[in-house]
Amino acid sequence: MKQAIVTGAAGGIGKAIAELAAARGYRVGVLDLDPEAVGQAAASLDGAVPLPADVSDEASVEAALERFGETPDLLVNCAGILRVGPLAELSADDFRAVVNVNLTGAFIAGRAAATRMMRRGSGCIVNVTSVVGIDPSPGSGAYGAAKAGLANLTRLMTLEWGPAGIRVNAVAPGFIDAGMSAPFYADPAVRALRGGGVPLRRLGTAEDVARTVLFLASDEASYISGEEIVVDGGVIHSVLAQLPRKAPEG
Ligand code: NAP
Repeated sequence: MKQAIVTGAAGGIGKAIAELAAARGYRVGVLDLDPEAVGQAAASLDGAVPLPADVSDEASVEAALERFGETPDLLVNCAGILRVGPLAELSADDFRAVVNVNLTGAFIAGRAAATRMMRRGSGCIVNVTSVVGIDPSPGSGAYGAAKAGLANLTRLMTLEWGPAGIRVNAVAPGFIDAGMSAPFYADPAVRALRGGGVPLRRLGTAEDVARTVLFLASDEASYISGEEIVVDGGVIHSVLAQLPRKAPEG
């Protein structure tokens, strides 16, 4: 049986990834911060293992991987936090907290999984980044910088761990109606405005992201490493389409 650990798997996008991994035959380690939420999420999946842990804490992650027992075939770094506010008013503590979970946490969990994968000579890691790491969004604080760092770290992991048989890729979701963005999209006016601005004319779902993660984990992606796949309905390419232009003559 294939083994997967998904961080941030107690809710939102991580939970959808854990569910799809379980449906595709993985034994899933549900790693997240809140022990109660972890227990509930794991209980809803066949054979899943609850792994309450803090990705920013090395000892906590190491203990979780020991508890999981098997060497993971797949690690998905999906744990993340967002602290919004204009940079001029953002505290250094908030900045550090975001980097600590989104970037340092992915390094800590990635290294813990990769050292085990290296001993076996195979494995796959998928890091969940964001379109905000490609094009910064005003008010998103350290989030975009942390995700851009994670995209770069994905490529370094590929260079250093590829020779040991480990593929490392990233998935960058766009406007996703789930998890940390769900409260924002609860307002129908915001949904219509944001969804209407996407070339595919809808918000994304957690399942849209999960399917891409599981594609990258599959043999269908056996020669793909170091890539960041954007899952955003094309919105990252729509800047020119949204700029005002002169009406055509006649
Ligand atoms: P979410 O529901 O808030 O999921 C993030 C999960 O990570 C939460 O369960 C959270 O636990 C957990 N977490 C936070 N700090 C942690 C830590 N130190 N150790 C372990 N787990 C921790 O939000 P989501 O939208 O599903 O986000 C999942 C990933 O997708 C994130 O990396 C996010 O940046 C990325 N993303 C989301 C969107 C979107 O529109 N939703 C778009 C682009 C990228 P708590 O709830 O207890 O804090």
